[in-house]
Amino acid sequence: MTKPIKSGDSPANILCKSCGLCCSGHLFAWVRLNAPELDPAQSLGLNVIRNDPRQRGFTQPCPLWDGVCAVYTSPHYPRSCKTYKCNVLRQLLDEAISLPEALSVIQETLSLIREIEPLLPASKAISFRERLITHKEELEAGGKEHTASEHEFLRLTEALLTCYEDRFGVDDFIDYEK
Ligand code: SF4
Repeated sequence: MTKPIKSGDSPANILCKSCGLCCSGHLFAWVRLNAPELDPAQSLGLNVIRNDPRQRGFTQPCPLWDGVCAVYTSPHYPRSCKTYKCNVLRQLLDEAISLPEALSVIQETLSLIREIEPLLPASKAISFRERLITHKEELEAGGKEHTASEHEFLRLTEALLTCYEDRFGVDDFIDYEK
């Protein structure tokens, strides 16, 4: 869900309000937190994971994102969230692309996601990203003939992953920390 655009919104705000992919579990499955951030993040209502030091953070989709972030003014707002900018946003801020161009990348990406969603099987993994990768890996390891729908899923997934990497600068499913 995206939020209404206000007339005073900056181009960056307009872009991110129209997107939200870095909060919704589409680009990332989880977000890294520093050890001192774990308890404050939990107090905000984030689903904190802390048992494995290699994966210390909170899971996506973020429960505090509802078209806009509900806690970005909080003193406990995580550092990763404060600092993260995908390449589309960076290019917009650098004036390397216009707002309409940036919005068109987001719309194309959302269209791909909408096409893939019905081809994904139900899964206990909650983020779109986890579901996408799990299903892709299962199909690729399966060693049997793919159905037409599975072929279509793999084709669209390849296009989405290329878009994530080439347009958003995201080539890893794991997390973000910068
Ligand atoms: S930083 Fe990028 S991915 Fe995140 S909401 Fe803004 S445009 Fe979308």
